[in-house]
Amino acid sequence: MFQRFSATQLATGSILIALAVTGLKVAAWMLTGSVALLSDALESFVNIGGAVIAWFAVRYAQRPADDGHPYGHHKAEYFSAVAEGIMIVIAAVVILHEAVNAFGRAAVADWGTAGLLVNALAMVLNLAWARVLLAAGGRLKSPALSAGGRHLMSDVWTSAGVLAGLVLALASGWTVLDPLLALLVAVNILREGWLVIASSVNGLMDTAAPEAERRKIEEIIHRMGSGALQVHDLKTRRAGQALFIEFHMVVDGAMTVRASHGICDLIEIALRDALPEAQVVIHVEPEHKLEPAGIKPR
Ligand SMILES: [Zn+2]
Ligand SMILES: [Zn+2]
Repeated sequence: MFQRFSATQLATGSILIALAVTGLKVAAWMLTGSVALLSDALESFVNIGGAVIAWFAVRYAQRPADDGHPYGHHKAEYFSAVAEGIMIVIAAVVILHEAVNAFGRAAVADWGTAGLLVNALAMVLNLAWARVLLAAGGRLKSPALSAGGRHLMSDVWTSAGVLAGLVLALASGWTVLDPLLALLVAVNILREGWLVIASSVNGLMDTAAPEAERRKIEEIIHRMGSGALQVHDLKTRRAGQALFIEFHMVVDGAMTVRASHGICDLIEIALRDALPEAQVVIHVEPEHKLEPAGIKPR
């Protein structure tokens, strides 16, 4: 049902969901006083900040190319994803601090099941929205939405761990399980934060298109490049929704500019047909620039 929604609409949805989830988790903590539930609630404040940053990034990334940014503004989304990763790590540190302090004052647990149920509701909400974001992030090629989805999934696992532990603590009366779980939660969040940062920084580093896309590009060049002798030095670069493709195309040196440009056009049209976001640059060379290895058009 979220198939038709744009990246901006989904980013707005993330803010609303984060507000609702944070409200539920704070209520769950107030109902129980559990340190683990407090850490879970603190972490969801990070969700609100992350969702707001993603909203700005998604909108900025959609701006058309201008004189100052002739390749477009797509990479803005990676900054939001890096920021989201950093916020996840900060949340983990806050939780670690809370958990370590709580070991000294392990109070007798007086938790009702109401708090646990409220937290479980927040978890289900997060899980549903995480699945929407992960699907949309892939479909719209939006690093900001994908990072948001991964973040929410780590929250879901966190909540699941906390709830399972609290149920055990209630059953066994062993209250130290509460800060102990908060500690485990913090370590898990730290790990997810690191993964989100690493993959987003990778996006800022002019990463090549995925293997499947590169194979598709090579196949199109092979199929549509007839008349050319060889294509080499194929380079691809993914920047969020944008895809940049460049290569050298060797033709008979006596071929007219008009004819070689015609081949370029056929390849470009076929590439944009298969990959609508592609921006293609082709450098034409005469036959003495043939290289030992390359793509041979049919
Ligand atoms: Zn600009
Ligand atoms: Zn060359």
